[in-house]
Amino acid sequence: MDRGKKGDRMSERDAGTVGFIGLGRMGSAIAGNLRAAGHPLVVWNRTAGKAAALVAAGAEEARTPADACRPGGVVFTMLADDAALDEVVSSDGFLERLAPRGIHVSMSTVAPATNRRLAERHTKAGSVLVAAPVFGRPEAAAAKKLWICVSGAAPSKDRILPLLGEIGQGTYEFGEEPGAASVAKLCGNFLIAAAMEAMAEAFTLGAKSGLAPADLAKLFGETLFSSPVYQNYGKAIAEGKFQPAGFALKLGLKDLRLVLGAAGEVNTPMPLADLVHGRLLSGVARGRAEYDWGALALGAAEDAGILEKRGGLEGNG
Ligand code: NAP
Repeated sequence: MDRGKKGDRMSERDAGTVGFIGLGRMGSAIAGNLRAAGHPLVVWNRTAGKAAALVAAGAEEARTPADACRPGGVVFTMLADDAALDEVVSSDGFLERLAPRGIHVSMSTVAPATNRRLAERHTKAGSVLVAAPVFGRPEAAAAKKLWICVSGAAPSKDRILPLLGEIGQGTYEFGEEPGAASVAKLCGNFLIAAAMEAMAEAFTLGAKSGLAPADLAKLFGETLFSSPVYQNYGKAIAEGKFQPAGFALKLGLKDLRLVLGAAGEVNTPMPLADLVHGRLLSGVARGRAEYDWGALALGAAEDAGILEKRGGLEGNG
């Protein structure tokens, strides 16, 4: 009897432990906030060494992704792309260890179809995948200022909402279909890329006509387009400051590929998405894969023949 009670208490405590997989720019900041909120935390990252700061803050380091899962517990993933997410979910014991009733909070920006397919695998294994991709760069993640899109089974969503409240400033719900939140996320990243291209073309027109891009960024950021995207990316584009990357251009290219893939699935032409996809592809071809994705703006200046004249936008990084 006593042993049973002790066992119950241990499994309750285990289920209260939060797992976190993927300690890149975003993941390390988000995991840090979960730990700071007082949750017992167990973390895993492919490349060893990135867990050091979290371990110093009291987190446990897992040997494998499955080790970061607890039966009935919650595990977050924040990984680069679809392939990485697939690899983690398919790794030995991951799905088995989370069941029964464990929840995988899938935060990476991936194809809606990937979250749908993986959600089915979770259901078969007795656990649940809730998609929770985010808006906000690493600084916003560190400041608990993320905006989070959520979709998945209602009771599981309700269970994780308090955790999301500890890492973001707000959640937006997109129903029970696990791919839906990823569609919302891709729509948002398309809008950001389109805004950056629009600013790049306008600032290039200004620069060729003798205006300072910084003056235009200030005007529009404070008036017609007073929003974080126009203000923050506008400043970076006007200054030509794309290093160090908050969001790497190669990941932006991944996202525009996902946008076009999702659009293709539902027969939705997106000519503007084609254009910004081309800008990002060209950025990678020109050696800017590790620049911030704001560097897609260099394409407009290059086309207009003023990149060199502006003193090497790239040199200002
Ligand atoms: P990042 O700094 O490049 O981190 C990527 C993470 O994925 C690292 O932990 C990396 O492990 C891991 N990873 C890559 N391939 C893997 C594999 N095959 N198996 C296991 N782990 C693997 O990227 P990030 O900027 O944090 O972005 C993470 C996700 O958030 C992406 O989907 C991105 O689109 C999205 N996102 C980013 C931002 C942003 O501003 N940065 C904003 C919103 C959403 P290693 O350490 O071993 O390389």
